[in-house]
Amino acid sequence: MTLYGGLTADCTELHVDKEKKILVQTRPAFGGNIMAQIICPDFRPQMATVRHKVMPEAESDPTRRGEVILEAFDAAWEDKRVKVLEFVTENVLTVKLAEADIVVSGGRGMQNPENFAILDELAKALGGAVGASRASVDSGWIPYSHQVGQTGRTVCPKIYIACGISGAIQHLVGMQSAKYIIAINRDADAPIMKVADLAIVGDLFKIVPMLTAKIKAERGIA
Ligand SMILES: Cc1cc2nc3c(=O)[nH]c(=O)nc-3n(C[C@H](O)[C@H](O)[C@H](O)COP(=O)(O)OP(=O)(O)OC[C@H]3O[C@@H](n4cnc5c(N)ncnc54)[C@H](O)[C@@H]3O)c2cc1C
Repeated sequence: MTLYGGLTADCTELHVDKEKKILVQTRPAFGGNIMAQIICPDFRPQMATVRHKVMPEAESDPTRRGEVILEAFDAAWEDKRVKVLEFVTENVLTVKLAEADIVVSGGRGMQNPENFAILDELAKALGGAVGASRASVDSGWIPYSHQVGQTGRTVCPKIYIACGISGAIQHLVGMQSAKYIIAINRDADAPIMKVADLAIVGDLFKIVPMLTAKIKAERGIA
């Protein structure tokens, strides 16, 4: 049966227009330069896939049971179609950023690559990973594998700490589903402060080391 339905892949946001009963599917288009809203008004079902980590994970419910259907599978068939060319070691840093419960990110406010050491130290004290805005990556202060945002990684940690990041929309789409957002910025009106659960107005070079010292003391880390 042909459904004639569309599929919008890699969405960064989904919402339902209740009046028109339409699923509005938002995703970056034209190399990330615009956010396109795509709808499928005439055919059903309406289908979309979402980018990894743009939505918080559902709580696990151990009472739910699925039916296991065992299908017979001829392994020889797979052997004919699949050939292992090479094993590539996974970039642990990149994976850690996407999987980390705590992400400490730095933006242009970090001023230079050496200053990222204070974020490394805070992340280490918290058992988290270091992220970055595109401005820091484009400045060559930190590798691209740390970039959070529309053209970088999407993260959904329990805590996201943005240091010296203004909160451009392209950055926000990569981290706004974090459970708790802490922003450290000397500009109280920076957009990141509006999405933050805790907005700390001040100089990150004073606040971050103080935070690290406090966490180390609480955790008994030397
Ligand atoms: C197609 C496209 C894709 C993009 N993709 C991404 C992406 O994936 N990720 C991304 O991050 N951006 C992306 N961008 C770029 C984005 O638009 C912003 O330019 C970028 O996020 C800005 O980075 P920033 O916040 O670090 O720098 P800025 O906007 O310059 O902000 C620096 C902030 O630091 C604060 N600050 C400075 N000094 C201190 C201090 N001592 N203490 C405290 N605060 C201080 C300032 O008040 C300011 O708010 C994209 C842009 C385009 C056009």
